[in-house]
Amino acid sequence: RDISVPIDPARLHGLLEQERRCFLERHPRSRALAEQAARHFLFGVPLHWMRDWPTPATLFVRAASGAELTCADGHVLADFCLGDTGAMFGHSPPPVAQALAEQAARGLTCMLPDERAAEVGALLAQRFGLPCWQLAMTASDANRFVLRWARAITGRPQVLVFDGCYHGAVDDTLVDRDPASGATLRRPSVLGAVHDHPDFTRVVPFNDLAALERALADRQVAALLAEPALTNCGLVPPQAGFWPAAQALCRRHGTLLVLDETHTLSSGVGGWARTHGVMPDFWVAGKAVAGGVPCAVYGFTEEVAQRMRTAKETAPEGHSGIGTTLTASALTLAALRAALQHLHTEASYALMQARAEALHAGLTARLQRRRLPWTVTRLGARLELQFMPDAPRHADDVRGHAQPALEQALHLFMLNRGVLLTPFHGMMLCSPATGPAHVQRLLAAFDDWLAALSL
Ligand code: PMP
Repeated sequence: RDISVPIDPARLHGLLEQERRCFLERHPRSRALAEQAARHFLFGVPLHWMRDWPTPATLFVRAASGAELTCADGHVLADFCLGDTGAMFGHSPPPVAQALAEQAARGLTCMLPDERAAEVGALLAQRFGLPCWQLAMTASDANRFVLRWARAITGRPQVLVFDGCYHGAVDDTLVDRDPASGATLRRPSVLGAVHDHPDFTRVVPFNDLAALERALADRQVAALLAEPALTNCGLVPPQAGFWPAAQALCRRHGTLLVLDETHTLSSGVGGWARTHGVMPDFWVAGKAVAGGVPCAVYGFTEEVAQRMRTAKETAPEGHSGIGTTLTASALTLAALRAALQHLHTEASYALMQARAEALHAGLTARLQRRRLPWTVTRLGARLELQFMPDAPRHADDVRGHAQPALEQALHLFMLNRGVLLTPFHGMMLCSPATGPAHVQRLLAAFDDWLAALSL
């Protein structure tokens, strides 16, 4: 079947130029702020990747609430990026905002557990299904610590990840797969790397059970660290039966299964693992888990907990290399408790799913009407427009269909019409605060974008 879409390169280039000009005209205050911030911030931003958006100047934010973000120039955007999932339950969800306000005057951090810690532990077990828990500040930290525990308790050196993975700023996982040899490569974009990755990390294609089995066979792999669906290299869903079979392989070879649900928490209440009945040995979530307040959690089975106790008790006194000082502060626990009680609920997810379903239907109908061989892949409240005829099976499918100029044009076009998408891949996330009017705004802008490209 013909899967080519005749997009005139000159027209696409012209559209990008026009949208860049439009952005600059509409955002004089952001431009002025960018100039001022550049005096003391490297790249003009407090975190360098805040410049990794396709906008010709940095977009500065005045406030964000629910599913909307108001920029420094006063434009109100329907926010489908939601802080790249940190604000999946909406910006400043009222129960979290209230819990933070109450805790703010009662002590922010003590390096001792707040008296509500036991209740938070019970809520974690109830919500996510694993009995034992620890906290970290960020999902990157949680993954790093879980890998450390996994190596400590198995005595094995290797970790295994899927090609195209992202698990945060975790050296072991910042690797690529050599498509020719299958060897582990250092990801070339990573700065200051000295770690000898091929010695300790193996990479296999997603959805490939044979490759997974080969990588596990010598029983050197402590843990398979994975997202249930890849979400950082485009949205790549698992094929039917993949996870039960992958988990059986891990068990047979004594490898711990770690599911990183930082993004796939969008799947349903309790995340993908809970909704699909695949309980891993370790389970990780960050970003939205405490409603957007810096916090990550990792859960594990009682059997794993017993091995962790033994590892800790048999190690000499001193630094474990696991933990950071502000972790599980009183402020964080207050937010986490409120989030577990009021955000991770059937009611929240019903709203998110309803919106995502409407968006999915609207986008798909538009593609079909124009006979465009593109796909909208959905994972619960998360959707992605993919410039390929079917959902990808692994990272190479995504790489093979990459269209960065088209993605940038879509992103900027939407932004100039009051709709914020996640940069890099056309990801859209729906929060409980996302309303039908936000969805309609996106769909109307999408119609205009297709028309602008004569599609
Ligand atoms: N795990 C996954 C699956 C992620 O997508 C991300 C961030 N995109 C992280 C971990 C790291 O999160 P953080 O940057 O908050 O540490």
